[in-house]
Amino acid sequence: MLDQSNQRPTSFHTGLYWFTNDLRIEDNRALLQAAEQTQQLLCVYLVDPAWFAPNRYGQKTMGQYRWSFLYASLVDLKKSLNALGQKLLIVFDAPLDGLGALIAQYKVDAIFRSQNAGFYENKHWQLLQQRYQMLYFEEAATHTIFAESSLPFGLEDLPGSFSKFRRRVEPLDIDTRLVTAKSLPPPPWGARWPRPNLPPVGVSETSSMFRGGASQAQKHLAQYFGSRLPSSYKEVRNALEGWEYSTKFSPWLADGSISVRQILQALNDYEANVEANDSTYWIYFELLWREYFQWFAHAYGVKLFNKDGAKSQKILTSFYPERFQRWCQGNTPYPLVNACMKQLNATGYMSNRGRQIVASCLVNELSVDWRYGAAYFEQQLVDYDVGSNWGNWQYLAGVGADPRGQRHFDIAKQTAIYDPQNTFINNWGGQAHTGSMDAVDYADWPIDQRLHKD
Ligand SMILES: Cc1cc2nc3c(=O)[nH]c(=O)nc-3n(C[C@H](O)[C@H](O)[C@H](O)COP(=O)(O)OP(=O)(O)OC[C@H]3O[C@@H](n4cnc5c(N)ncnc54)[C@H](O)[C@@H]3O)c2cc1C
Repeated sequence: MLDQSNQRPTSFHTGLYWFTNDLRIEDNRALLQAAEQTQQLLCVYLVDPAWFAPNRYGQKTMGQYRWSFLYASLVDLKKSLNALGQKLLIVFDAPLDGLGALIAQYKVDAIFRSQNAGFYENKHWQLLQQRYQMLYFEEAATHTIFAESSLPFGLEDLPGSFSKFRRRVEPLDIDTRLVTAKSLPPPPWGARWPRPNLPPVGVSETSSMFRGGASQAQKHLAQYFGSRLPSSYKEVRNALEGWEYSTKFSPWLADGSISVRQILQALNDYEANVEANDSTYWIYFELLWREYFQWFAHAYGVKLFNKDGAKSQKILTSFYPERFQRWCQGNTPYPLVNACMKQLNATGYMSNRGRQIVASCLVNELSVDWRYGAAYFEQQLVDYDVGSNWGNWQYLAGVGADPRGQRHFDIAKQTAIYDPQNTFINNWGGQAHTGSMDAVDYADWPIDQRLHKD
């Protein structure tokens, strides 16, 4: 059946909703579209076995902190779907194989998902469309503040720096009305829900700083904006440690158990009812950084992962396995860097200031190819997000969205400003390594070196 006005089909028999970076029901426009256009709907999440195997950088795509967090988000999503008479089918398979089998089994005629900034995620989406040309495909922007069509430029003309981007988008009206499906079509008749044989969850809820899921995200949102913390955010946001110095929204934003528009709506309410000042504006400012890196990833595709970056800028770094390993372990000559890395390894989280300092150290002091650092962050961070991570790494390495080139942080100066009493360093046991950083010859290094070619 076709809608007369825009020729969009209005009713499909069996839809498949592919949850990805949008693990929520509230303010999920893509899910709403699926709900409105299908008679029965299969809700699916695919856990790709490749996430748990070493990639070309010798790291896993999915580390233990994010996997535990993601698992909790999926359990929470399952409960919310159950409350609406729906179910979540979790499949442990490569996306194209897993979806292919479901399309055939359930005679799916339409597939819906949220828009995604990831190059490989988009490649899967394109391949699906090529392989199943008889099906209807639809996606909606749920991960960003703006839809691509409301940006005042095409992605091929994305401003080359954050400041230029901000100046172009700040005058735009932001629609913070939340769109939520109040009911969902039932799952396909006779559907089966086999339990997937997922990798074990290694981090307990008590040992992690963050608990996954939309309900936890809403609880945190209410607590944060129910306090006076937003009024002093800008003054304290560069601290290295503590729950309260920054918003801590990033893990929920990354897997989509909260939407950026839900945060903006709470921020607007706070500004209207409590206080609007430089700090409250700065929360928005930082969310615009996130927005920029989302569109940066969309615009540059696979170039996000190139050593020369979006700018095709040659950079004199290489792969030094021992330096890289010492950096990962927090065993370098730089106590502040060591403390930050130990914090990351023990919690899955590091402050923004810490991330900048350790990234600058890897590139400038240790001359290691920045992509290894980005891949290590991808494995370790509970809040890993493809655009924010690889975009920030490119920015610091001077091959991305920074007109000023490579960012070199003076570690001694940063220590004097942000950890003058060495409290943070001592808390995390960040003593300096004093011996050589290259004691083992590259040729004798135990990692398969074929992985480390450009
Ligand atoms: C090398 C490097 C890698 C990073 N990797 C990631 C990543 O994988 N995932 C991620 O969410 N953030 C990443 N960031 C950005 C930033 O460090 C985190 O978003 C922030 O520390 C998360 O804590 P918060 O939510 O308390 O942030 P807050 O300071 O409270 O900021 C509020 C929100 O604004 C956004 N934000 C703030 N700073 C940035 C920034 N520089 N770039 C993009 N968004 C920002 C985040 O969504 C954050 O939740 C990275 C930064 C660097 C320097």
